[in-house]
Amino acid sequence: MTADVALVTGANRGIGLEVTRQLAGQGHVVFLGARSPAAGAEAAAPLRAAGLDVRPVRLDVTDRDTIEAAIADIDRQVGRLDVVVNNAAIHYDTTNRATDPDLTIVHEALDTNLHGAWDVVLAALTMLRRSEHGRIVNVSSGAGALTDMAGGLPAYRLSKVGLNALTRMWAAELAGDGILVNSVCPGWVATDMGGGGGRPVADGADGVVWAATLPDDGPTGGFFRDRRPIPW
Ligand code: NAP
Repeated sequence: MTADVALVTGANRGIGLEVTRQLAGQGHVVFLGARSPAAGAEAAAPLRAAGLDVRPVRLDVTDRDTIEAAIADIDRQVGRLDVVVNNAAIHYDTTNRATDPDLTIVHEALDTNLHGAWDVVLAALTMLRRSEHGRIVNVSSGAGALTDMAGGLPAYRLSKVGLNALTRMWAAELAGDGILVNSVCPGWVATDMGGGGGRPVADGADGVVWAATLPDDGPTGGFFRDRRPIPW
């Protein structure tokens, strides 16, 4: 086994699916995380039929049992994990306001977008530390940038601000392990979350794949869009 091994969360559709396709196209073994096993199998089938080593794995980022089971499954199948892409996210809450919030939405967004990513990384750390070039990519958003923070989207914005903070903490704490950790905004992308009018999913996925395949002397603790740094 020489190919790098990646895990992408929320990979059965949207940007996660395209990141999976692109990483597998570069020769990675990619575990396609999906909370619905049926959706995961359905998403993986055409990629596998095209000769890519894409393996669906059940993973609900809000369910620690499925996270632990997915990581154990990866260990059993290939014995290594080099890349974790924290992509799964919910609640682009355009009708919500920080002055009049639907706190259920806020809690759900934090559970999935922030605590979910945190739990996945904690479960994956032992294998990532064993890797010779560990990479963590937090799929974030310009909506989580404090520099131009505005009103609205409180659930989504808070979850991405928190995720960006984890990027900085993990980058510092894992530097000695050679694990590069970065936040990437994919830009406005035409997916179920992004809606119509966004750019093609391949363009949004490109920066995520770039951060997942950085050379060992690549950046860590940064926030990027289209392979270029953006302000926090
Ligand atoms: P999407 O089309 O809505 O897809 C979201 C994915 O996350 C789906 O596969 C969904 O699975 C999965 N998911 C949701 N909750 C989950 C959970 N608890 N466990 C595991 N998977 C879960 O979204 P997208 O546009 O591809 O967004 C991907 C990432 O890019 C997100 O982090 C988002 O915040 C970020 N982003 C997107 C845009 C944009 O314009 N699209 C802009 C900036 C940042 P199900 O099919 O089971 O629901």
